[in-house]
Amino acid sequence: CGIVGYIGHREAYPIILKGLKRLEYRGYDSAGIAIYDGNDIKLSKTKGKVADLEERLEKEISTNGTLGIGHTRWATHGVPNDVNSHPHYSNSGDLVIIHNGIIENYESLKKELIKRGYTFKSDTDTEVLVNLIEDVKKKENIKLGKAVQIALNQVVGAYAIAVFDKNKPNEIVVARLGSPLAIGVGKDEFFIASDASPFIEYTKNAIYLEDEEMAIVRRHKGVKIRKIKDDSLVAPYIQELQL
Ligand code: GLU
Repeated sequence: CGIVGYIGHREAYPIILKGLKRLEYRGYDSAGIAIYDGNDIKLSKTKGKVADLEERLEKEISTNGTLGIGHTRWATHGVPNDVNSHPHYSNSGDLVIIHNGIIENYESLKKELIKRGYTFKSDTDTEVLVNLIEDVKKKENIKLGKAVQIALNQVVGAYAIAVFDKNKPNEIVVARLGSPLAIGVGKDEFFIASDASPFIEYTKNAIYLEDEEMAIVRRHKGVKIRKIKDDSLVAPYIQELQL
């Protein structure tokens, strides 16, 4: 399983598609991509191989857009099928998430969200997380990064996630606990991936998130890292990758 993301000045789609192929060695049963096209999110996902997605993508999504996320899934909650594949939308359709890992307490969180009027299309733990983030964000009227932080503090489990809001298409929020997550730092562009292989040809500078860290990756502005638990700022440590 793997995650890939891009925000910058290039077309995101080819970078993400190629990145997913590089992460194929990690194993997976489904794949999906979401691209912000300047107006809305275009999303395509399918059970099967990245090559299957490629065929579908050509029909289903506009490939223009400089912000996007992609995922290869190794199913843990819900069978491998198109609906359970990532990315997953929140109920409003504003947020879209990719996730590697397991949300162990998803059942109790899901029950609470259903009481609050949320509905679910998939059987995944991941769709619970994206709606928890949305619920927190709306209830507290806060920014996405803060909402992700509060939501993750209610979660028991393991994750590498990337999430963005179509109303704020200048940032991607990422976080990790137990699953790897690297941020490639280019010139006015940023890459997100499970390891550096999807972005090594674009930049040699990488930040590896530590467990219990999250980062807000902003177009033109850079990367801000915080500890999920106590909100303290962490100075980004940029490593130079050796080939
Ligand atoms: N638990 C999530 C699911 O089953 C993510 C699995 C993964 O790591 O790919 O959809």
